[in-house]
Amino acid sequence: MGTKNEKGQQSGINNLREMFYRHIAQTSPAPLALEIVKAKGCKLIDKEGHEYLDLIAGISVSNVGHGNKKIIKAINKQAADYLHLLVYGEMIESPQVRYATLLTEHLPANLNSVYFTNSGAEATEGAMKLAKRVTGRSEIIAFNQSYHGSTQGALSIIGDEYWRNAFRPLLPCIQHLDYNSTAAIEAISTKTACVFAETIQAERGVHPPTKQWLQLLRKKCTETGTLLVFDEIQTGFGRTGSLWGFERFAVIPDIVLLGKALGGGMPLGAFVANYSLMNQLSKNPVLGHITTFGGHPVCCAAGMAAMKVLLDNNLIAAVEEKAAMFRKLLQHDAIVELRSEGLLIAIELKSQSEVFSVTKQCLEDKLIVDWFLFASHCIRIAPPLTITPKEIRKACKIILKSLNTLAK
Ligand code: PLP
Repeated sequence: MGTKNEKGQQSGINNLREMFYRHIAQTSPAPLALEIVKAKGCKLIDKEGHEYLDLIAGISVSNVGHGNKKIIKAINKQAADYLHLLVYGEMIESPQVRYATLLTEHLPANLNSVYFTNSGAEATEGAMKLAKRVTGRSEIIAFNQSYHGSTQGALSIIGDEYWRNAFRPLLPCIQHLDYNSTAAIEAISTKTACVFAETIQAERGVHPPTKQWLQLLRKKCTETGTLLVFDEIQTGFGRTGSLWGFERFAVIPDIVLLGKALGGGMPLGAFVANYSLMNQLSKNPVLGHITTFGGHPVCCAAGMAAMKVLLDNNLIAAVEEKAAMFRKLLQHDAIVELRSEGLLIAIELKSQSEVFSVTKQCLEDKLIVDWFLFASHCIRIAPPLTITPKEIRKACKIILKSLNTLAK
């Protein structure tokens, strides 16, 4: 195999790494570029047979571990039965229907209608449209340092001007306010269609709100007829120690966004609301949100298998104990603060350069950690929830060793 150079001659490139840099669109200035050939549990194995311990789970996707047999079996079965049949919502596809049913059984009663999408960003888009359609309003409130996706609508509401600026004009009528602030509650009015909030701000480096603030947010939304949208794309499926992040705040949203672990490693997102709201997308205009592949049967079969593994093995019950192990073992003078919401953990260091140095050093020791989009001075730890105590001890030892290499 080879590719043609500018003169049309075969260049003889047959190296996957070179082809990766040449033909895979690069948006990261420094991709990890590991050539992984197998993934199992918390381990990624490269083509030379090196075993990496994965502390980021594909950014909170592989919550039940890589290569789970039940997920693979469900994928194989569904692939053998049928793949794509028709655009979303036209056929009764059993993986979609059964997964929507399982999800709604584990969500508050008002969240009983699921619209499956291809990604988290598309769930954000769908929820924005639903809120505008239902309320007839155009104003949206979102929070500084919140992340909701990278498409134009989602980008318009994410809370960081560095990422938004190059792509203007974006959507109008969006207010970005401070999370957990009184000003945000005061700004909600009868003109506000919806408020988008993460239940824990993940990409800010793991910052939860106070229970009281989230409850006030709910109250003001109810008073003004504003829809409250919770983005559980990163915090859902047991990541923070409960099935959904919002559970511990005793606040129920009008719309919830799901993604990442929702598909068990396959691409899947969803926005979930009450049937009475969702139903409005079927009139004025009809087909108010359209997707060809959203809720693909193989993705739904995989996601449902993953959710069952999560629930049947009681994986969520062990999250807090495992998080406590990380907190106990990760003590070092270089750590400014360690924030842990279950197995969504941020280790704050003094600077971005310290984080880059530690993550590089960890990689040399075959440990994969990362930083956060809006907090590059924090190391991201979000392993598969199946991580074992032995793996936690090994990971912490490597992180401490890397922290030791930082200049005092
Ligand atoms: N919302 C949150 C909180 C996320 O963390 C992400 C992805 O990181 C998204 C939305 C967007 O999801 P996707 O990358 O599937 O579009």
